[in-house]
Amino acid sequence: MPRSAATQWPAHCRRHVADGVSADIIHGDFKAEPYWWDAAPRRQRGASDVPRKADIAIIGSGYTGLSAALTLARAGREVVVLERDSPGFGSSSRNAGYVGSALLAPFSQLIAKYGASRAVAWYGEAKAAFDYTTALIEREQIRCDYFRSGRVFWAYTQAQLDGLEHEFQAMRAHLGKEGEILHGDAMARETGSRQYCGGLVIPETGALHPALYHQGLLERVEAAGATVVGHAAVESIAAASTGHRVETVRGAIEARDVLVATNGYAGRETPWFRRRLLPVAAQMIATEPLDPKLVAMLLPGARTNLNTRAMFSYWRASPDGTRVLFGGRTGVEYRDPESAAREQHGEMVETFPELASTRVSHLWSGQIGFTRDRLPHIGVRDGVHFAMGMNGAGLPMGTYLGHKSALRILGNEGAATAFDGLGFNAIPLYTGRPWFVPLLVGAARLRHRRERPPREH
Ligand SMILES: Cc1cc2nc3c(=O)[nH]c(=O)nc-3n(C[C@H](O)[C@H](O)[C@H](O)COP(=O)(O)OP(=O)(O)OC[C@H]3O[C@@H](n4cnc5c(N)ncnc54)[C@H](O)[C@@H]3O)c2cc1C
Repeated sequence: MPRSAATQWPAHCRRHVADGVSADIIHGDFKAEPYWWDAAPRRQRGASDVPRKADIAIIGSGYTGLSAALTLARAGREVVVLERDSPGFGSSSRNAGYVGSALLAPFSQLIAKYGASRAVAWYGEAKAAFDYTTALIEREQIRCDYFRSGRVFWAYTQAQLDGLEHEFQAMRAHLGKEGEILHGDAMARETGSRQYCGGLVIPETGALHPALYHQGLLERVEAAGATVVGHAAVESIAAASTGHRVETVRGAIEARDVLVATNGYAGRETPWFRRRLLPVAAQMIATEPLDPKLVAMLLPGARTNLNTRAMFSYWRASPDGTRVLFGGRTGVEYRDPESAAREQHGEMVETFPELASTRVSHLWSGQIGFTRDRLPHIGVRDGVHFAMGMNGAGLPMGTYLGHKSALRILGNEGAATAFDGLGFNAIPLYTGRPWFVPLLVGAARLRHRRERPPREH
């Protein structure tokens, strides 16, 4: 159904509408680092040494590693978290802050491939991850701008809208999921964009400031007695009489148990995991501060948003309501931040032409860890625990599976998950250099350009 052609923008918004992209959309104070780091700066390189012994050594200080550390430290274990860079340097301080209750793999596709009972069990874990994470934020009083935002999935083509309807019907029938398909005027309630022909709102989702959430977790972990050591890249893990010997660039540590929580940043020191996790870059931009009325007009529902196009994009307002944060999946890391920012800005302007002359203040990217089956994986390999393969949804899932790994290390029967025993297969043709990712991205770009909105839209 066509949107109202008579939509009039008030004067304070019209002045942001330009005929085309202005000569320079790069802000004078442009930073090639996450907008989130303004409020949660990275910790400076500390002098803390790598302890010689611990009950548990955790590799990776994102949500997964820290959540495990919190549960273990509160259970009285001696825990050391080892991080290659500053704590939280990976995706956990770079993401969009969407707190979802679903998996990346569409529910209807999981039913078709594995049957309803496994699909229901796996989606049950996604809901459990959402519940666990939101309860943790509440219980620990972590100030991270969490609110129950609801999320809108936008369709550009009729086929995409049909796909959303099909997915929603399956989720409603099997999971009792609540939601609403948006058409016509109902869309204006949710967006100022006129690019889409329909959408699906899922209310049971939230949004937060991802780096403040990480910082809050880090503070709780350290207050519970765990040691988090930055700039201590792990170089190898070997079996030892005491359990494991973990070599870092700053000395070795002996630990009875080891948890690998490196997700999309898994390196050559863990080759078995590396072959199972395809690192795919995703990037985001932040606009300069805008008139909050303009932001509210573009994002009237204050929801998190994403579209279902071949080169999909996601966007939301900053927690203070003054900026638009807009991202995409680029596949490979950018080389030149300013040209990457211009490209991302161009995608934002496709959705919001009103932002054509708005300048970009920040650009950043991070690595998403994809698995072959698009499902998260948790378990033990050669005596080493792991939780990884968050497939772009690790804010709640990493928090949850880190906790579950900790319960397994503690021998607690609450450790069981529906992902236990799932075969963890290597990515075909991948041994550590994702040479084919640019080809996949090129094919997606081509499909994206060929997409056509419905005729009457
Ligand atoms: C742009 C972007 C947007 C995203 N948006 C969302 C979203 O809105 N919602 C959502 O749920 N998910 C989102 N994600 C995904 C989400 O951020 C991740 O799934 C999540 O942060 C994974 O947490 P983690 O702890 O498993 O891994 P990470 O946070 O990536 O942490 C892994 C850490 O391991 C460290 N490491 C690696 N190797 C070693 C080594 N040898 N020694 C020591 N340390 C090592 C790395 O430096 C890194 O800090 C997004 C990701 C990106 C990049």
